Amino acid sequence: MPVLEKSDLRALGEKSRAGGALSREEARAVLNWPENELLDVVAEAHRVRHQHFGQKVKMNFLVNLQSGLCPEDCSYCSQSKDSKAPVEKYRLLSSDDVLDQADRAVAAGAARLCLVAAMRGPGEREMASLDETVRKVKEKYPRLEVCASMGLLKEGQAGRLKSAGVDAYNHNLNTSERHYEEICRTHTHSDRLDTIEKAKAAGLSPCSGAIFGMGETQDDIIDVAFRLREVGADSIPINFLIPVPGTAMARHNQLSPTDCLKILCLFRFVNPSMEIRIAGGRERHLRSLQALGLYVANSIFIGDYLTTKGQAASADRQMILDMGFEIEGEDNAPGSPTRPLPDPVEMVTRATRQ
Ligand code: SF4
Repeated sequence: MPVLEKSDLRALGEKSRAGGALSREEARAVLNWPENELLDVVAEAHRVRHQHFGQKVKMNFLVNLQSGLCPEDCSYCSQSKDSKAPVEKYRLLSSDDVLDQADRAVAAGAARLCLVAAMRGPGEREMASLDETVRKVKEKYPRLEVCASMGLLKEGQAGRLKSAGVDAYNHNLNTSERHYEEICRTHTHSDRLDTIEKAKAAGLSPCSGAIFGMGETQDDIIDVAFRLREVGADSIPINFLIPVPGTAMARHNQLSPTDCLKILCLFRFVNPSMEIRIAGGRERHLRSLQALGLYVANSIFIGDYLTTKGQAASADRQMILDMGFEIEGEDNAPGSPTRPLPDPVEMVTRATRQ
Protein backbone atom coordinates (compact mmCIF):
# COMPACT_ATOMS: atom_id res chain seq x y z
CA MET A 1 0.00 0.00 0.00
CA PRO A 2 1.28 3.49 -0.74
CA VAL A 3 2.40 5.50 2.23
CA LEU A 4 0.69 8.85 2.74
CA GLU A 5 2.47 12.09 1.94
CA LYS A 6 3.35 14.31 4.88
CA SER A 7 0.55 16.71 3.88
CA ASP A 8 -1.88 13.75 4.01
CA LEU A 9 -0.59 12.89 7.48
CA ARG A 10 -1.34 16.43 8.66
CA ALA A 11 -4.87 16.12 7.19
CA LEU A 12 -5.28 12.75 8.92
CA GLY A 13 -4.29 14.33 12.25
CA GLU A 14 -6.70 17.24 11.73
CA LYS A 15 -9.51 14.80 10.97
CA SER A 16 -8.71 12.83 14.12
CA ARG A 17 -8.63 15.99 16.25
CA ALA A 18 -12.07 16.87 14.89
CA GLY A 19 -13.35 13.41 15.90
CA GLY A 20 -13.55 12.05 12.35
CA ALA A 21 -13.02 8.41 11.49
CA LEU A 22 -9.92 7.21 9.64
CA SER A 23 -10.30 5.13 6.48
CA ARG A 24 -8.73 1.66 6.43
CA GLU A 25 -6.16 2.93 3.94
CA GLU A 26 -5.12 5.70 6.32
CA ALA A 27 -4.95 3.23 9.21
CA ARG A 28 -2.77 0.90 7.16
CA ALA A 29 -0.51 3.76 6.15
CA VAL A 30 0.13 4.57 9.82
CA LEU A 31 1.16 0.95 10.47
CA ASN A 32 3.41 0.98 7.39
CA TRP A 33 5.00 4.37 8.09
CA PRO A 34 8.72 4.33 7.19
CA GLU A 35 10.98 3.96 10.19
CA ASN A 36 13.18 6.86 9.16
CA GLU A 37 10.19 9.23 9.29
CA LEU A 38 8.61 7.81 12.41
CA LEU A 39 8.90 11.05 14.38
CA ASP A 40 6.49 12.71 11.91
CA VAL A 41 3.69 10.32 12.78
CA VAL A 42 4.50 10.45 16.50
CA ALA A 43 4.38 14.26 16.40
CA GLU A 44 1.00 14.20 14.65
CA ALA A 45 -0.38 11.69 17.15
CA HIS A 46 0.98 13.89 19.94
CA ARG A 47 -1.06 16.83 18.67
CA VAL A 48 -4.17 14.70 19.03
CA ARG A 49 -3.12 13.51 22.50
CA HIS A 50 -2.33 17.06 23.58
CA GLN A 51 -5.69 18.41 22.45
CA HIS A 52 -7.50 16.03 24.79
CA PHE A 53 -5.06 15.42 27.63
CA GLY A 54 -2.50 18.22 27.57
CA GLN A 55 0.64 17.16 29.43
CA LYS A 56 -1.13 14.82 31.84
CA VAL A 57 -0.16 11.19 32.38
CA LYS A 58 -2.45 8.92 34.36
CA MET A 59 -0.86 6.20 36.48
CA ASN A 60 -2.75 2.97 37.21
CA PHE A 61 -1.92 0.26 39.71
CA LEU A 62 -2.73 -3.42 39.18
CA VAL A 63 -3.78 -5.84 41.91
CA ASN A 64 -3.96 -9.52 41.04
CA LEU A 65 -7.07 -10.26 43.08
CA GLN A 66 -7.23 -13.95 42.26
CA SER A 67 -4.40 -15.73 40.53
CA GLY A 68 -3.70 -18.81 38.48
CA LEU A 69 -7.01 -20.64 38.75
CA CYS A 70 -8.85 -19.64 35.60
CA PRO A 71 -10.93 -22.29 33.77
CA GLU A 72 -10.61 -20.42 30.44
CA ASP A 73 -8.05 -21.28 27.77
CA CYS A 74 -6.73 -17.92 26.52
CA SER A 75 -3.49 -19.06 24.95
CA TYR A 76 -1.49 -15.91 25.81
CA CYS A 77 -2.34 -16.06 29.49
CA SER A 78 -0.12 -17.53 32.20
CA GLN A 79 -3.18 -18.06 34.40
CA SER A 80 -5.24 -20.12 31.93
CA LYS A 81 -6.23 -23.73 32.54
CA ASP A 82 -3.70 -24.86 29.93
CA SER A 83 -0.77 -22.79 31.17
CA LYS A 84 2.23 -24.59 32.67
CA ALA A 85 3.77 -21.31 33.84
CA PRO A 86 4.76 -21.42 37.52
CA VAL A 87 2.46 -18.59 38.64
CA GLU A 88 1.10 -18.13 42.13
CA LYS A 89 -2.27 -19.76 42.70
CA TYR A 90 -4.68 -18.26 45.20
CA ARG A 91 -8.33 -17.34 45.56
CA LEU A 92 -9.65 -13.85 46.24
CA LEU A 93 -7.41 -11.62 48.31
CA SER A 94 -8.99 -10.39 51.52
CA SER A 95 -10.16 -6.80 51.75
CA ASP A 96 -7.29 -6.07 54.15
CA ASP A 97 -4.75 -7.31 51.61
CA VAL A 98 -6.34 -5.15 48.92
CA LEU A 99 -6.25 -2.16 51.28
CA ASP A 100 -2.50 -2.74 51.70
CA GLN A 101 -2.18 -2.63 47.91
CA ALA A 102 -4.33 0.52 47.74
CA ASP A 103 -1.93 2.16 50.24
CA ARG A 104 0.97 1.34 47.89
CA ALA A 105 -0.95 2.58 44.86
CA VAL A 106 -1.72 5.92 46.48
CA ALA A 107 1.84 6.30 47.79
CA ALA A 108 3.13 5.78 44.25
CA GLY A 109 0.74 8.41 42.83
CA ALA A 110 -1.72 6.13 41.06
CA ALA A 111 -5.10 7.60 40.11
CA ARG A 112 -6.76 4.22 39.51
CA LEU A 113 -6.67 0.87 41.27
CA CYS A 114 -7.32 -2.04 38.92
CA LEU A 115 -8.63 -5.16 40.66
CA VAL A 116 -8.14 -8.10 38.31
CA ALA A 117 -9.35 -11.62 39.11
CA ALA A 118 -8.49 -14.63 36.95
CA MET A 119 -11.89 -16.29 36.48
CA ARG A 120 -14.55 -16.90 33.83
CA GLY A 121 -16.91 -14.61 35.72
CA PRO A 122 -17.87 -13.84 39.30
CA GLY A 123 -20.27 -15.95 41.36
CA GLU A 124 -22.15 -14.85 44.44
CA ARG A 125 -19.16 -15.30 46.75
CA GLU A 126 -16.87 -13.21 44.56
CA MET A 127 -19.49 -10.49 44.17
CA ALA A 128 -19.99 -10.27 47.94
CA SER A 129 -16.25 -10.19 48.56
CA LEU A 130 -15.66 -7.44 45.99
CA ASP A 131 -18.53 -5.43 47.39
CA GLU A 132 -16.91 -5.43 50.85
CA THR A 133 -13.44 -4.73 49.45
CA VAL A 134 -14.47 -1.80 47.25
CA ARG A 135 -16.51 -0.18 50.01
CA LYS A 136 -13.44 -0.28 52.29
CA VAL A 137 -11.12 1.10 49.62
CA LYS A 138 -13.54 3.92 48.79
CA GLU A 139 -14.02 4.75 52.46
CA LYS A 140 -10.28 5.21 52.88
CA TYR A 141 -9.53 6.72 49.47
CA PRO A 142 -12.70 8.30 48.04
CA ARG A 143 -10.83 9.90 45.10
CA LEU A 144 -9.05 6.73 44.03
CA GLU A 145 -10.81 5.29 40.98
CA VAL A 146 -11.56 1.58 41.21
CA CYS A 147 -11.75 -0.60 38.12
CA ALA A 148 -12.86 -4.22 38.41
CA SER A 149 -11.91 -6.94 35.95
CA MET A 150 -13.60 -10.22 36.78
CA GLY A 151 -14.40 -11.75 33.42
CA LEU A 152 -17.83 -12.25 31.90
CA LEU A 153 -20.75 -10.60 33.71
CA LYS A 154 -24.24 -12.02 34.12
CA GLU A 155 -27.43 -9.97 34.19
CA GLY A 156 -27.56 -7.64 37.19
CA GLN A 157 -23.91 -8.01 38.20
CA ALA A 158 -22.71 -4.78 36.61
CA GLY A 159 -25.36 -2.84 38.52
CA ARG A 160 -24.22 -4.44 41.77
CA LEU A 161 -20.63 -3.45 41.08
CA LYS A 162 -21.74 0.12 40.38
CA SER A 163 -23.69 0.21 43.66
CA ALA A 164 -20.63 -1.04 45.55
CA GLY A 165 -18.64 1.97 44.31
CA VAL A 166 -16.79 0.47 41.33
CA ASP A 167 -16.08 3.22 38.77
CA ALA A 168 -15.00 1.22 35.73
CA TYR A 169 -15.11 -2.31 34.36
CA ASN A 170 -12.31 -3.80 32.31
CA HIS A 171 -12.90 -6.49 29.73
CA ASN A 172 -10.45 -6.49 26.84
CA LEU A 173 -11.47 -7.42 23.30
CA ASN A 174 -7.83 -8.46 22.87
CA THR A 175 -7.91 -8.90 19.08
CA SER A 176 -10.20 -8.89 16.06
CA GLU A 177 -13.30 -11.07 15.89
CA ARG A 178 -11.66 -13.05 13.07
CA HIS A 179 -8.50 -13.78 15.05
CA TYR A 180 -10.25 -14.41 18.36
CA GLU A 181 -10.91 -18.11 17.88
CA GLU A 182 -7.21 -18.65 17.25
CA ILE A 183 -6.38 -17.41 20.74
CA CYS A 184 -9.32 -18.70 22.80
CA ARG A 185 -11.95 -21.45 22.49
CA THR A 186 -13.79 -21.32 25.81
CA HIS A 187 -15.58 -18.04 25.12
CA THR A 188 -16.15 -15.84 22.08
CA HIS A 189 -15.49 -12.30 20.96
CA SER A 190 -19.23 -11.62 21.16
CA ASP A 191 -19.29 -12.88 24.78
CA ARG A 192 -16.72 -10.18 25.50
CA LEU A 193 -18.70 -7.50 23.67
CA ASP A 194 -21.80 -8.50 25.64
CA THR A 195 -20.02 -7.92 28.96
CA ILE A 196 -18.74 -4.52 27.84
CA GLU A 197 -22.30 -3.54 26.89
CA LYS A 198 -23.59 -4.69 30.29
CA ALA A 199 -20.95 -2.58 32.05
CA LYS A 200 -21.85 0.47 29.95
CA ALA A 201 -25.57 0.00 30.51
CA ALA A 202 -24.99 -0.03 34.28
CA GLY A 203 -23.10 3.26 34.15
CA LEU A 204 -19.63 1.77 34.62
CA SER A 205 -16.88 3.38 32.56
CA PRO A 206 -15.93 0.78 29.93
CA CYS A 207 -12.25 -0.12 29.83
CA SER A 208 -11.34 -2.42 26.97
CA GLY A 209 -8.12 -2.93 25.09
CA ALA A 210 -6.04 -5.33 23.08
CA ILE A 211 -2.89 -7.43 23.01
CA PHE A 212 -0.48 -7.38 20.10
CA GLY A 213 2.23 -9.84 19.14
CA MET A 214 -0.11 -12.86 19.01
CA GLY A 215 0.27 -13.60 15.30
CA GLU A 216 -2.38 -11.08 14.20
CA THR A 217 -2.33 -9.39 10.79
CA GLN A 218 -2.48 -5.67 10.11
CA ASP A 219 -6.18 -6.13 9.31
CA ASP A 220 -6.72 -7.62 12.79
CA ILE A 221 -4.96 -4.62 14.36
CA ILE A 222 -7.08 -2.19 12.37
CA ASP A 223 -10.30 -4.16 13.10
CA VAL A 224 -9.82 -4.08 16.86
CA ALA A 225 -8.89 -0.38 16.82
CA PHE A 226 -12.08 0.43 14.89
CA ARG A 227 -14.21 -1.93 17.03
CA LEU A 228 -13.07 -0.23 20.23
CA ARG A 229 -14.10 3.11 18.73
CA GLU A 230 -17.57 1.67 17.99
CA VAL A 231 -17.80 0.20 21.47
CA GLY A 232 -16.95 3.57 23.01
CA ALA A 233 -14.32 2.31 25.42
CA ASP A 234 -13.34 5.18 27.73
CA SER A 235 -9.95 3.65 28.42
CA ILE A 236 -7.99 1.39 26.09
CA PRO A 237 -5.08 -0.61 27.52
CA ILE A 238 -2.62 -1.60 24.80
CA ASN A 239 -0.68 -4.72 25.74
CA PHE A 240 2.31 -6.13 23.91
CA LEU A 241 2.54 -9.86 24.44
CA ILE A 242 4.93 -11.03 27.11
CA PRO A 243 5.60 -14.58 25.90
CA VAL A 244 5.60 -16.37 29.24
CA PRO A 245 7.31 -19.80 29.24
CA GLY A 246 4.68 -22.47 29.86
CA THR A 247 2.00 -20.75 27.77
CA ALA A 248 1.03 -21.66 24.21
CA MET A 249 2.50 -18.36 23.02
CA ALA A 250 5.86 -18.74 24.74
CA ARG A 251 7.67 -18.53 21.40
CA HIS A 252 5.82 -15.50 20.00
CA ASN A 253 8.00 -12.43 19.84
CA GLN A 254 7.55 -10.61 16.57
CA LEU A 255 7.20 -7.00 17.71
CA SER A 256 9.83 -4.30 17.35
CA PRO A 257 9.79 -1.07 19.39
CA THR A 258 8.81 0.88 16.28
CA ASP A 259 5.95 -1.55 15.54
CA CYS A 260 4.65 -0.85 19.03
CA LEU A 261 4.93 2.90 18.55
CA LYS A 262 3.00 2.76 15.27
CA ILE A 263 0.25 0.68 16.92
CA LEU A 264 -0.03 3.29 19.67
CA CYS A 265 -0.23 6.06 17.05
CA LEU A 266 -2.97 4.19 15.17
CA PHE A 267 -5.02 3.77 18.36
CA ARG A 268 -4.60 7.46 19.19
CA PHE A 269 -5.79 8.57 15.74
CA VAL A 270 -8.75 6.16 15.76
CA ASN A 271 -9.73 6.86 19.38
CA PRO A 272 -8.60 10.48 19.79
CA SER A 273 -10.31 11.41 23.04
CA MET A 274 -10.01 8.06 24.81
CA GLU A 275 -7.45 7.20 27.46
CA ILE A 276 -4.79 5.18 25.66
CA ARG A 277 -2.83 3.23 28.26
CA ILE A 278 0.46 1.50 27.54
CA ALA A 279 -0.01 -1.74 29.43
CA GLY A 280 1.80 -5.09 29.69
CA GLY A 281 4.99 -5.51 27.70
CA ARG A 282 5.87 -1.80 27.75
CA GLU A 283 9.37 -2.31 29.07
CA ARG A 284 10.09 -5.46 27.06
CA HIS A 285 8.85 -4.27 23.66
CA LEU A 286 9.12 -0.48 23.60
CA ARG A 287 12.43 -0.62 25.45
CA SER A 288 14.29 2.68 24.91
CA LEU A 289 11.25 4.11 23.08
CA GLN A 290 9.03 4.00 26.18
CA ALA A 291 9.29 7.74 26.67
CA LEU A 292 8.30 8.37 23.03
CA GLY A 293 5.22 6.22 23.67
CA LEU A 294 4.05 8.78 26.20
CA TYR A 295 3.87 11.44 23.50
CA VAL A 296 1.03 9.33 22.09
CA ALA A 297 -0.50 7.47 25.04
CA ASN A 298 -1.61 9.36 28.15
CA SER A 299 -1.66 6.56 30.67
CA ILE A 300 0.52 3.73 31.99
CA PHE A 301 0.53 1.03 34.63
CA ILE A 302 3.09 1.49 37.36
CA GLY A 303 4.68 -1.31 39.31
CA ASP A 304 4.31 -4.91 38.24
CA TYR A 305 1.87 -6.61 35.90
CA LEU A 306 -0.31 -9.52 36.93
CA THR A 307 2.30 -12.27 36.79
CA THR A 308 5.38 -10.51 35.41
CA LYS A 309 7.66 -7.80 36.71
CA GLY A 310 7.49 -4.21 35.52
CA GLN A 311 9.91 -1.31 35.81
CA ALA A 312 10.17 0.26 39.27
CA ALA A 313 7.46 2.85 39.94
CA SER A 314 10.18 5.38 40.79
CA ALA A 315 11.66 4.98 37.29
CA ASP A 316 8.23 5.51 35.72
CA ARG A 317 7.67 8.69 37.72
CA GLN A 318 11.12 9.95 36.80
CA MET A 319 10.51 9.25 33.10
CA ILE A 320 7.22 11.20 33.18
CA LEU A 321 8.74 14.18 34.97
CA ASP A 322 11.91 14.17 32.84
CA MET A 323 9.71 14.60 29.78
CA GLY A 324 7.99 17.64 31.24
CA PHE A 325 4.72 15.79 31.67
CA GLU A 326 2.54 16.01 34.77
CA ILE A 327 1.11 13.15 36.74
CA GLU A 328 -2.68 13.28 36.72
CA GLY A 329 -4.09 14.12 40.12
CA GLU A 330 -0.88 15.65 41.38
CA ASP A 331 -0.33 19.37 41.53
CA ASN A 332 3.27 19.16 40.50
CA ALA A 333 5.34 21.43 38.35
CA PRO A 334 7.11 19.64 35.50
CA GLY A 335 10.55 18.46 36.50
CA SER A 336 10.10 19.05 40.20
CA PRO A 337 8.30 16.25 41.96
CA THR A 338 6.18 17.39 44.90
CA ARG A 339 6.78 14.19 46.76
CA PRO A 340 9.86 12.02 47.17
CA LEU A 341 10.18 9.30 44.58
CA PRO A 342 8.95 6.11 46.24
CA ASP A 343 10.89 2.94 46.54
CA PRO A 344 10.11 0.37 43.89
CA VAL A 345 6.61 -0.88 44.50
CA GLU A 346 6.62 -4.35 45.92
CA MET A 347 3.84 -6.39 44.46
CA VAL A 348 4.36 -9.58 46.39
CA THR A 349 0.71 -10.29 46.94
CA ARG A 350 -0.07 -12.53 49.83
CA ALA A 351 -2.24 -15.48 49.06
CA THR A 352 -5.18 -15.52 51.43
CA ARG A 353 -7.96 -17.99 50.91
CA GLN A 354 -11.46 -16.99 51.90
S1 SF4 B 1 -10.20 -15.24 31.10
FE1 SF4 B 1 -8.57 -13.84 31.79
S2 SF4 B 1 -7.49 -14.91 33.45
FE2 SF4 B 1 -8.74 -16.42 32.35
S3 SF4 B 1 -7.34 -17.35 30.86
FE3 SF4 B 1 -8.42 -15.67 29.81
S4 SF4 B 1 -7.10 -13.85 30.10
FE4 SF4 B 1 -6.40 -15.42 31.59
